[in-house]
Amino acid sequence: MLVVMQEGASEAQTEAVINRLVEMGFNVHRSTGVRHTVLGGVGPMDDFDPAVLEVFEGVKECHRIVSPYKLASRHWRPAGTIIRIGKVEIGGPQVVSMGGPCSVESKEQIESVAASVAAAGAQVIRGGAFKPRSSPYSFQGMGEEGLQIMRAAADRHGLLVVSEVMDHLQIPLLLQYSDILQVGARNMQNFNLLRELGKVRKPILLKRGIAATIEELLLSAEYIMSGGNYEVMLCERGIRTFETSTRNTMDISAIPVLKRLTHLPVVADPSHGTGKRDYVLPMARAAVAAGADGLIVEVHPDPDHAISDGAQTLRPEQFAEMMGQVRAIAGAIGRAA
Ligand code: PEP
Ligand code: MN
Repeated sequence: MLVVMQEGASEAQTEAVINRLVEMGFNVHRSTGVRHTVLGGVGPMDDFDPAVLEVFEGVKECHRIVSPYKLASRHWRPAGTIIRIGKVEIGGPQVVSMGGPCSVESKEQIESVAASVAAAGAQVIRGGAFKPRSSPYSFQGMGEEGLQIMRAAADRHGLLVVSEVMDHLQIPLLLQYSDILQVGARNMQNFNLLRELGKVRKPILLKRGIAATIEELLLSAEYIMSGGNYEVMLCERGIRTFETSTRNTMDISAIPVLKRLTHLPVVADPSHGTGKRDYVLPMARAAVAAGADGLIVEVHPDPDHAISDGAQTLRPEQFAEMMGQVRAIAGAIGRAA
């Protein structure tokens, strides 16, 4: 149920509607826009007649939300969500860039990457300290030490940190060191983890599962949001198809589709999206042209010796070149980068 309050509706009028929704068994989520307050009622009463609330004072309109996701739907926040972390705004006019290695490997590696991505104009350093590897025998990440290394380097270079959380037991550690908690493709439908992330008050970067539909991605975002954490950004990182020329098929069309269906910011990952270094630049350009609010790209000082995902990882000078190209594309569509 979605109730749009009139412009200038009083707090008492809004409260009266909230109270009625609660009486009827709805959980109420409030979104305060520039003009209108929108109340999202999530509950079991799908056959409820919206006219009952339309006659309340201060109510502009009331609708049943037919999509299976409610809070992730653009109707709930028509103007779009801007996630603010310090001076960085994700979902605003500026395209935000995140760069760094697949895995945190050493202090020297992270210091070098932090310096180069910051110099190229990135706002966020990425790097996995807990790694979801297809084989249990592959490197599993440096854990807390890796997070400490990232935090220190990020602070030295004025960057934010994004790093992956694989399990709910890791949440406290991630909260301590990371500004954005990444949920990897393999965990997109780890519903227990998503519910726990609904309780935290830090932004989540939710990656699309390797075989997930756009609707399933939005339902996973809904799990987090229904717990009260509305700061979710979605990440298109390629999906598995019959095509074998690339590691995954980068679904560029998912970007405008998501921008229509949801108010949440959309980030593109052309590294996992293609699996090959040579294709990262063109796909980064395409993603920004298609309306992505951010990019997350793997960068390493010596990608050919990276512990994980070296083939899709850019050298620092390639990242700088990408940033220059992305800036030009962003400028052409009225944005900055
Ligand atoms: C990563 O970002 O390094 C990663 C493991 O990504 P994904 O979950 O998209 O495979
Ligand atoms: Mn990776």
